[in-house]
Amino acid sequence: MERSIFTGANLIDGEGPARRDVTVVVEGERIASVVEGPASDARPGDRVIDLAGRTLMPGLILCHFHGTFHDFTTGKAPALGLEHTPAILTLFAEQHVKLALDCGFTSVVSASCPHRIDPSIRDAIDLGLIPGPRLWAASRELCSSGDVVDAQNRLWHYELGNGGTARKADGPEGFRAAVREEIAWGADIVKLNVSGGHGVAPAGELVSMSPEELSAAAEAAHLRGKKVRAHVASRQGVLECARAGFDVIDHADRMDAECIDAILEAGSIVVPSMLYTQRFLSVMEAIDFENEAQAMTGMPRIESARQTVERVRGVREDFEYTRSIVPEAHAAGVPMVIGDDYGTAVLGQGEYAKELEFYVKDVGIAPLDVIRWATRNGAELMGRGAELGTIAEGKYADLLVVDGDPLADMACLQDGDKLLAIMKGGLLVKDQLDAFAIG
Ligand SMILES: [Zn+2]
Repeated sequence: MERSIFTGANLIDGEGPARRDVTVVVEGERIASVVEGPASDARPGDRVIDLAGRTLMPGLILCHFHGTFHDFTTGKAPALGLEHTPAILTLFAEQHVKLALDCGFTSVVSASCPHRIDPSIRDAIDLGLIPGPRLWAASRELCSSGDVVDAQNRLWHYELGNGGTARKADGPEGFRAAVREEIAWGADIVKLNVSGGHGVAPAGELVSMSPEELSAAAEAAHLRGKKVRAHVASRQGVLECARAGFDVIDHADRMDAECIDAILEAGSIVVPSMLYTQRFLSVMEAIDFENEAQAMTGMPRIESARQTVERVRGVREDFEYTRSIVPEAHAAGVPMVIGDDYGTAVLGQGEYAKELEFYVKDVGIAPLDVIRWATRNGAELMGRGAELGTIAEGKYADLLVVDGDPLADMACLQDGDKLLAIMKGGLLVKDQLDAFAIG
């Protein structure tokens, strides 16, 4: 079998510190060996690539992704999967999974989709019909009657019922049935919208679902061997999701020390997703709402200029709070991953790698830790830590060759010209390595 041998690599393996002058051998779809020093056993037919100090690292893993989002904004209604036909949304999703792979993301975990689009996109990728990363399909977003998804983004007089991304459920049995049905339709992970807040509005203190509903949803998913994730921003909501055994806690804006203990006990993974909020604030705080009649409000509801200013101020307070608690949670051992609401008005699809630089520069997380979030921890979230996420013998060869050192400057991951090669399962989906081939 033909092998690819990468020598002279600056190896960032997703686990330990970087190592210089490492040789990695890829055979078939897996990594055959990782050894210090030059290649010693090249055979005829092997492709030997001398990276001469360039970086070899695991393919990145994005753990909050909405394939159908395209310039999506809650300011235009109806939204949440009703902004286009299912066919158009599917075509956007096809485009965006390809884009994610082209950006170096070899695995992507969805955070909700309308019209059961994710499972078909996942299957189309696995069948080789379209290019894309390893995709974990999400359910629709389970909400409860009258909560922020049901009532605020989808005004009652639209009479939208269960259309688009939203699916209403009430009572423990209602949630159990909804989770089972979403899994039957192909979801790998089930999403619940547990509290309002995050990004466009303050977290507040409310929880939209009862502890019994949360526990029923988590149990129903786990009994079918699937995972469950929650959009949740309020302190009480984060606490109750962790206690209910949610695998993934999205946003967690107002988590505190008690939440951190509960998260550690439950073994949940947190998606801080702060880049969207930062972008939202940079746009909204530049608008003079008191004097601008046509200002974007971010939500399809009637809101006075003063209320908008108050809302933005609340989001700013949450953001500064989250910026202080995320490093604390990280230091306490809470596993974190990257991923955010790309495809929205303030944060475009394709900007994925900017998140890594953001957590280093704006939140103060060490570069090596951010790399772990974006590789090893993502694989753990998918329950595939033994096969993906790091560079080690026997794992799938999901690899990037980077002309630069992300630990010195994370921005190099945002530059397509510096991503010299992208390998998924031993296959090079991008290959600009001919100049470095020595055999
Ligand atoms: Zn989202």
